[in-house]
Amino acid sequence: MEIEIRELKDDRLKFFLSGATPEFVNSLRRAILQEIPVMAVDEVDFMANDSVVDDEILAHRLGQVPLHTPEGYLLPSECDCRDGRCSNCSVSLTLKTEGPSLVKSGILESSDTEVVPASDSFPLTRLGEGQKLELMAIARLGFGKDHPNWQPALASYKYMPIFGWKKDGCTLCGDCVEACPPDLLEIADDEVVINDLEECTMCKACVDACPEGAIDIDQDSSKFIFKVESFGCMSPVRILEKAAEVLKEKCEDFIGGTERF
Ligand SMILES: [Zn+2]
Repeated sequence: MEIEIRELKDDRLKFFLSGATPEFVNSLRRAILQEIPVMAVDEVDFMANDSVVDDEILAHRLGQVPLHTPEGYLLPSECDCRDGRCSNCSVSLTLKTEGPSLVKSGILESSDTEVVPASDSFPLTRLGEGQKLELMAIARLGFGKDHPNWQPALASYKYMPIFGWKKDGCTLCGDCVEACPPDLLEIADDEVVINDLEECTMCKACVDACPEGAIDIDQDSSKFIFKVESFGCMSPVRILEKAAEVLKEKCEDFIGGTERF
């Protein structure tokens, strides 16, 4: 199996994965979506809320704020404390403010400076003149399979496209070039060529447009274009590493016959 990094940013990773099966690649995608523990607000105590947004909706919004997740925290199920509020398994984020203002995620004060919102600009609610908002939110580790608030990223893949063109029969009419929605085809040196093959959506508009049947689009089922788009809990590379660890653990458990599944 080989990985070729195509794009790497703070919140985004794109790579080619070759020599793998569709089942493995889908397992990797599902591990990213569901099996990586990250921090998210799980419980909110309201001391005051004069805003137009109800407690329940505001708590839901707080749960959707991605939080930076460092190593070292325990899952509530692994912690010895009974209420899931100790410093080993939880972080408290407090908020106390008075309007008029647009209340954003940056106003939350965390008990751990490493567990903070991935962005300060997520809007929570708006307060009018003299309206108060005071709350304490408890963040804990959790899994995307239990609630999307704990999903660390979007993960997706597609097969590597295969573009085929037959010189015999092609009249270079250019219909395929016109038909391609992402505008990837061109005629160069009396040949139809594709630029940026990985951007091909395999819609086959070029195949349908060609009156001579000179174009063929197929897919390579052993080579994939994989994307990870982090919500900000951790870097996309770390997310991929953790997903690989999860798959490795699952395989070892399966081979060992334990009942993790
Ligand atoms: Zn605890």
